[in-house]
Amino acid sequence: MYGNASTPVRVELELCSTSVSADRHTGDGAPWRVSTVGLPALDNTTKSASLFDPETGEITLQHDPTLKWQLQSIVRLALPGHRIQTCMRHLRPDRREVQVRESQKSGKAYFAGLMSCGSVWTCPVCAPKIQAVRAQEVKAAIDVWEGSVFLLTQTVPHTRQDALEPLLDAFTLALRKFKGCKGYTNAQKRHFISGSIRALEITDGRNGWHPHAHTIIFCESRHTDLDQLRADLFPLWESAARRAGFTKKLSPQAFDIQDARAVCQYVTKLGTEYEWGAHHELTKAHSKRGHGSSMTPFDMLRSYLDSPDDGRLLARFAEFAYCFHGKRQLVWSDGLKKRLLGTDGLTDCQIAESLGEADPVLARITLEEWRIIRRNDLQAHVLSVVQTFGRTGLTSLLAAYRSG
Ligand SMILES: [Zn+2]
Repeated sequence: MYGNASTPVRVELELCSTSVSADRHTGDGAPWRVSTVGLPALDNTTKSASLFDPETGEITLQHDPTLKWQLQSIVRLALPGHRIQTCMRHLRPDRREVQVRESQKSGKAYFAGLMSCGSVWTCPVCAPKIQAVRAQEVKAAIDVWEGSVFLLTQTVPHTRQDALEPLLDAFTLALRKFKGCKGYTNAQKRHFISGSIRALEITDGRNGWHPHAHTIIFCESRHTDLDQLRADLFPLWESAARRAGFTKKLSPQAFDIQDARAVCQYVTKLGTEYEWGAHHELTKAHSKRGHGSSMTPFDMLRSYLDSPDDGRLLARFAEFAYCFHGKRQLVWSDGLKKRLLGTDGLTDCQIAESLGEADPVLARITLEEWRIIRRNDLQAHVLSVVQTFGRTGLTSLLAAYRSG
């Protein structure tokens, strides 16, 4: 069998109505570690369809601008001690006031001057911002590439009994063995593979945690033989998985490779033609809607809105957050980003904290006012009121809370 979990101090944690066992790590900055092995499977059928885009499963912010703030509150509940506790709540040390600005690009109002957690895995406020930039980078890389581009999907056998931490460790070990073996080097030469971008993804379904990786593979030739590439790479993945401890035979779903440019599906999103392409598959995977009965981590948060007594949802989310803490969502092979885009780009935190200094300020908010907004979870309402009624609208809104 694969890997062994470490043996941290064991404590009991009460999450809403569901009691789960939790392992409290000391000193690693992640006190929200939770083990959910043995809990009944989550049911994805109770999700409120109105909260998602039915085609892409993305959070439908246009329909409900408060949603990302509500989801962030749920994450704060699930992850005490995580840096998300301060995200968009505390003033940045280099700022003296909170501002509402209006993006010249999107026309949307946003807060400037607040701290951001920059967590692409767990923060419903920061993640969309980071994912949008990452998706554009991947799209630009595919667009400028003159050779072939393939989308490889890999996974491993798993069951409901697998705790996420050892499963994920073994899976990432298999990925390393796959790319590190001599056979892969030979395949690189044979198919003129010159780079890749790999995304890590997780869903939760009837068979438990389902880790998988999507990798964009860049080949120099426009005429790469896809069937031959598949025939060369699949045995390498079988071997790597076996050497990482997965002794069960791989199912056909454990390995898939297709033309990345053909992956694009055109769907209608709120009346606008919208392209769901390979770049979205790589960058927005953990926040989109899961397929069938499976749930992405952000699905768990959305479901919790409908079922606030279901502590399993928070427990599973906390287990996911612990295991993915510090892991990179996207890994570009050495030098590829600079070669294709001419830059190494910004870090997740830099993107999350970026301020549109050229964007007009719609309202300035004092610290006293901000405390009222924060205490009453008014962030989304403030953005909407300021955009419609300006500073006067904000003053009226806050007056109602002061007198209340
Ligand atoms: Zn954040």
